[in-house]
This record gives sequence, structure tokens and C-alpha cells, in this order.
Amino acid sequence: MKGSILDTIGSPLVQVDSPEGATVAAKIESFNPGGSAKDRPALEMIRTAEREGAIEPGDWLVEPTSGNTGIGLALVCAARDYDLTLVMPADKSAERQQVMAAYGADLELVDGNMETARARADELVEEGATQLGQFENPANPRSHYRTTGEEIIEQVGDREIDAFVAGVGTGGTISGTGQRLREEFPDLEIVAVEPARNAVLSTGEPGDDGFQGMGPGFVSDNLDRELVDRVETARLEDAEDECRRLAREEGILVGQSSGATSLVAQRIAREIAEPDIECPEVPDAFDATQPASPETDGGQAVEDCPLVVTLFPDSGERYLSTGLFD
Ligand code: PMP
Repeated sequence: MKGSILDTIGSPLVQVDSPEGATVAAKIESFNPGGSAKDRPALEMIRTAEREGAIEPGDWLVEPTSGNTGIGLALVCAARDYDLTLVMPADKSAERQQVMAAYGADLELVDGNMETARARADELVEEGATQLGQFENPANPRSHYRTTGEEIIEQVGDREIDAFVAGVGTGGTISGTGQRLREEFPDLEIVAVEPARNAVLSTGEPGDDGFQGMGPGFVSDNLDRELVDRVETARLEDAEDECRRLAREEGILVGQSSGATSLVAQRIAREIAEPDIECPEVPDAFDATQPASPETDGGQAVEDCPLVVTLFPDSGERYLSTGLFD
């Protein structure tokens, strides 16, 4: 038995369709109780602020969000008894608003982008609310260092990771997870993914892209640029095609940014694939009694098969009203 719903935060690492001579695996973050990777920083930011005596249950908290952090915070605030106001750009999906409200959070929609939402949240701080500040709060990347990174290391077992691919919003996921994985695998390539039409990291120019959660339109303080070896972009329409493919061909229902990271992970895997190596199949529910073979037929050690790990931040259910799967 778990002490509370907050103790269920965590997710599986699942092998996905991979090119010949490489393995691609994805962390399926929709398994978290609030349905996204953002439950991790939500819990860590509130726990840290409580420990430091900056907040206590009953206090009024505020946060600007593109949705998933808001939902993670709404869940933690419900479980820990905080009043929460979320400020979100009005163009984000209806499901996001409905889930926040279901957890009892107050929601203010703003016409504009994440910068507009941040400015409005700052005003509410003037009125007495405490802002957790996911774009600069070190508890955000630290949550991924302590949980996401640690889980991945445990989940790959004896295998080495060659590349880690993650979408960038606050930068918390890539910076925290990347730092932990780099400690374990010093040669690991860390690949950031951003929207092609809002490629601030690649071009310095913000733009209008339609992605929800990835590409805030500015460079977040929580992004550790030193850690990132390479920046790749994905177009919204290609990412959405990939979401439909993942749902229909693999039974994995994920949102737009997951479609984008999936495409980039496949791209990297094709580049580093070793076609002469027969990569091991991880046993699944259909052959669960078969132990994983430590060596392939050709006698190549399992660890020679290149491994690309990515992260699918949220579920496709959060996008049904946008027509993504119609
Ligand atoms: N994808 C989605 C759907 C998200 O909600 C977020 C978080 N805003 C990201 C990607 C990027 O994650 P991070 O903020 O950790 O960079």
C-alpha cells in the first residue's frame, strides 16, 4: 500500500519501433497519477518550498503553465491542502482546463502566450500569492535528476545509453535527467527537441507553432545549455502524424511533443544504428516466460546494440478535443 497518491509518481520505459541495428525506448509519462512528466517537478517544488519554510498547507499558490505543470500542481495541492491559481494561455486544450478544475484549482485564462501568463502570475504574487516558478526553480530539474534519471538507469539494466532525446519547455526534463544520465554514461549524446516554427534554441527567433508544452518562446533559466550536445526540430504536422502512427500501430496514445521526440529519437537511432548487429528483443507480454537473451545469435554482446532513450511527456487523451486523432 502507498502512503498517498503522490507515492505513485513514476513511469515505465518501453521499447518502441526501432530501426535495424538499434533500440529506441520511451519513458511513458502518462503513467504518472496526474498524467504527465510534470507531476515530478510539481511534487518536488512544493516539497522543497515546504521544507524551506516558504509555504505551508492552506497557503495560496500561483503558477503560469501551458497545462501539464498546472495539472501536476493541482493534484499535489489537492493532496496537500493548498489553494492554487493557475494562469494559462487560452489556446491550450479544453481537457487541460477541465482536469485542473476537477482537482479544485482556480484557472485564469489569458489571451497571449507563456510570457503573458508569466506577467499575470507576477501580478498575483503582488496580491499575496506564492509563485513556485517552474522556469527558474532548481527543484524542477532536480526532480528529474532524482526520479526520471534514476528510473531510466535502473530500467535499462546492463545496457549503455548512447543518446537521450527530450523536448524542451522549462528545460527541467532534459537538464535534470540529462545530468544524471551523463554521470552514468559519460559518452551519452543529449539531444534537445524544439518546434520547427518556434526554434528559439536553433535560431534565437520565437515563432507561432501550435505545440502545447514544448517551446515556450524564450530560453528558460532551467535549461542547462552546456549539457545539450545537439538541438533538433520537428514540425507540428509531422509530430501529429507520428502521434497517430504510435496510437494505431503501437498502441501508445501520446501528445504532440511525444510525437516530436519520437521522430527525433528515430532519426538519431538511424544515424547510430549498427545494421550488422542483431539487437536483442525485450520479452513482452506475449513471451513473458522467455528470459532476455544476454547475447544475440551472432555472438554480439547485447550492450553493442545502440540504445536511444526518449521521453513521452503526456497522453493523447489530453488532445482529443483538438482533433489530433480524428
Ligand atoms: N511536452 C509537454 C506536453 C509538456 O507539457 C512539457 C512541459 N511544459 C514539455 C514537453 C517540456 O518539458 P520541460 O518543461 O521539462 O522542458
